[in-house]
Amino acid sequence: MKYNHILVRYGEITLKTRNRNMFINVLKRNIKNALAGTQAEIKTDYSSALIDLNDESYETVLERIRYISGILSVSPVLKIERDIEVIKETASNMASSFSDGKSFKIEVKRQDKTFEYDTGEIQQMVGSHVQMSNEHLHVNVKAPDHTIMIQVKVDRVYVYCEHEYLQGGLPYGTGGKALLLLSGGIDSPVAGLEVAKKGVEIEAIHFHSPPYTSKEATDKVKRLVDIMSERIGAKIKLHIYPFTDIQTTIYKKVPDNYSMTSTRRLMLSIAERLAIRTGSLAIVNGENLGQVASQTLSSMHVINEVTNYPILRPLLSHEKMEIVELANKYGTFETSILPFEDCCTIFKPKNPKINPRLDKTLHFEDKIDFEPLIEEGFKNIIVYESHEKEEESFEDIL
Ligand code: ATP
Ligand code: MG
Repeated sequence: MKYNHILVRYGEITLKTRNRNMFINVLKRNIKNALAGTQAEIKTDYSSALIDLNDESYETVLERIRYISGILSVSPVLKIERDIEVIKETASNMASSFSDGKSFKIEVKRQDKTFEYDTGEIQQMVGSHVQMSNEHLHVNVKAPDHTIMIQVKVDRVYVYCEHEYLQGGLPYGTGGKALLLLSGGIDSPVAGLEVAKKGVEIEAIHFHSPPYTSKEATDKVKRLVDIMSERIGAKIKLHIYPFTDIQTTIYKKVPDNYSMTSTRRLMLSIAERLAIRTGSLAIVNGENLGQVASQTLSSMHVINEVTNYPILRPLLSHEKMEIVELANKYGTFETSILPFEDCCTIFKPKNPKINPRLDKTLHFEDKIDFEPLIEEGFKNIIVYESHEKEEESFEDIL
C-alpha cells in the first residue's frame, strides 16, 4: 500500500490549554528539522499534524521522526476526497492487502457533521463493500484482526489501518534548560535523554583530567553528545572542564576515604556555577540509589550540601538492566562501554566512605582554597558543539 501522508498525534501537548500553540510550533520546528533534505512537508493544527510524504516512503520518514519527543503515535494514511465511492474503493484496496487474519471492522470518526452520511451509514456502506470485494474477509466488531479507520474532516477524508506508538513526552525545548553531568559511562547519557524527552533542553559538562585521562576518553564523550544530539534532533553544547589541578589537590590533601566525596562535591559546585552562567534551571546526573559508594543516600546528602540547585536524577530507582536496555534503545550503549577511563576511575580511592560525615568533609576541605583553581578551570573550558544541524533556532519560536 503506498500511503501519501502520515497522521501525527500529539502526546502530552493535548493536556495543555493555555500555551498549546507554542508547544505545537516547537514540535513543528523539530519535525521540520528532522525532515530536512527530504521532500516531506509538515502541517500542524490544534489536535494533530499531517506530514505530506510527497513521494517519500512512509518508512524513510518514520525513521526520521521516530524519536522526536512530543509525538504520541503515528499512522500512515491515505488522504482522499470526501466522496463515498472513493472511500469505499480505498477501504477495499487497503483490505485486499491484509495477509494475516481474516476479520475486520470499520470505525468512523465524523469530525464534520455536514457530510451527507452519518457514522452508522458510512460504516455499513463501506463495510459491505469491503466484504463483497474481499471474499476471504468477514466482519467482526468485537475482536477484529484489522480495523480500518475512516476520519471525515471538513475538506478531506483519511483512511488508515495502522497505528504505531512512539515515545510521547513533550517537544524538546519547551521545558527550560538543564545542565547534564556527562561522564563517559552508561548512565548519564541515558539520564540526559530521559529528561530531554520531557521537553527539557540539554547542555552538558564533562570533567577531564589530562594527562591522566586520555584524548580518547574525551573523544568518546563528544561522540556520546553527537549520538544524543542526533537522537533529540537538536544541537547540544558540551563544556569540557579541566579538572586535573582540583583532583590532584584533593588527592594530596583529603584523606583517601573522603576523596571521592570531595571530588563529587567539587564537581557539583562547579556544575552549579556553570548552570547559572548558562541559564540552566536544574542539574541532571545519572545517579542510581545504592549503586556505588558515592550514590548511597548518606553520600548524596553530603555531596548535595554544596548546592541549592534542583538536581534531577531520572535513573534513581532504575534496575541496572533497565538502564542498559534504555542505553541500547537510545544507541549510546556501544559507545559508553568503550574502555577509556574517566577521571573518577583513575583517582578512585581504595575504600571510599559509604557513609561520609558532613562535619568531617567540611573539616578536610576547610584547609584548601579551591576558589582560584575553580576559576582557572573556567578560563580553560573547551566548548564542543554536536554535529546535528538545525534549520531554525528556538529563539525564532519562543
Ligand atoms: P555513569 O554511567 O553515568 O558514569 P555511574 O553509575 O558510573 O554513572 P558514577 O561514575 O558514580 O556513576 O557517576 C555518577 C554521576 O556523576 C554520573 O552519572 C554523571 O552524571 C556524574 N559524573 C561522573 N563522572 C563525571 C565526569 N567525569 N564528568 C561529568 N559528570 C560525571
Ligand atoms: Mg561513571
